[in-house]
Amino acid sequence: MSPNHPLASHAYLTQCSVLDAYGHLSVRHPHDPTRFFMSRSVAPGVISSVDDLIEYYVENAEPVNASAAKGYSERCIHSEIMKRFPGVNAVVHSHAPAVVPYTVNGVPLRAVYHMAGFLGCESPVFDASDHVLPNESHDLLIRTTRLGACLAACFGDHDRQPDHSIALMRGHGFTAQGQSIMDAVLRSIYTQQNATIQTTALLTHAAHFNSLTEGEAKDTAAMTMLTAERPWRMWLREVEASSLYVNRA
Ligand SMILES: [Zn+2]
Repeated sequence: MSPNHPLASHAYLTQCSVLDAYGHLSVRHPHDPTRFFMSRSVAPGVISSVDDLIEYYVENAEPVNASAAKGYSERCIHSEIMKRFPGVNAVVHSHAPAVVPYTVNGVPLRAVYHMAGFLGCESPVFDASDHVLPNESHDLLIRTTRLGACLAACFGDHDRQPDHSIALMRGHGFTAQGQSIMDAVLRSIYTQQNATIQTTALLTHAAHFNSLTEGEAKDTAAMTMLTAERPWRMWLREVEASSLYVNRA
């Protein structure tokens, strides 16, 4: 398997804690730019076969095969970024804890070491509450093409090229775009490392917090419980695969 293969990339990103039970990677179809691939809705670290991949239309994030397995609810993040920017061929969406503080504390996430120059002097922060409709869930997830398009616009636009490599997402995580899987994976890993280094340098300087609203906290709590089986199964697999674990029951 090539290191640029989506299956290998899921494993790297999980090992680096960019992805845990949540988050995902997409890649545009190499021969048909109107389509892209993502894994089915499982923890990325347990993806093991091309059978785990689903092909989607960029236009509406609907599966090419109507009987495909259940996909990620946030796939519109990927489809709308690929739709807005023809040169983007891969996207990583992450909930990495090291990065999340910079989505709420008002401190600009900026390149502070040599591996993260792609971050530039400031990364845009997307706030779902600026765009979500009153009758939609306020769980901060990007479930529609409309919200996905709002996030894609946050990357800036110059001749259909994004101005920014990543966009932070308030109380949620971040999304990185790239011309290839390697680009997107590298940017997501070094965004996380840059955030860790910047936090250490600032000694967790935080002037104020922009925490979840009461409604967002309620909806996100419900959403987490609905999907709790996903991390649980992954943690179970990790324990079973560990040589430290002995079960004499
Ligand atoms: Zn997410």
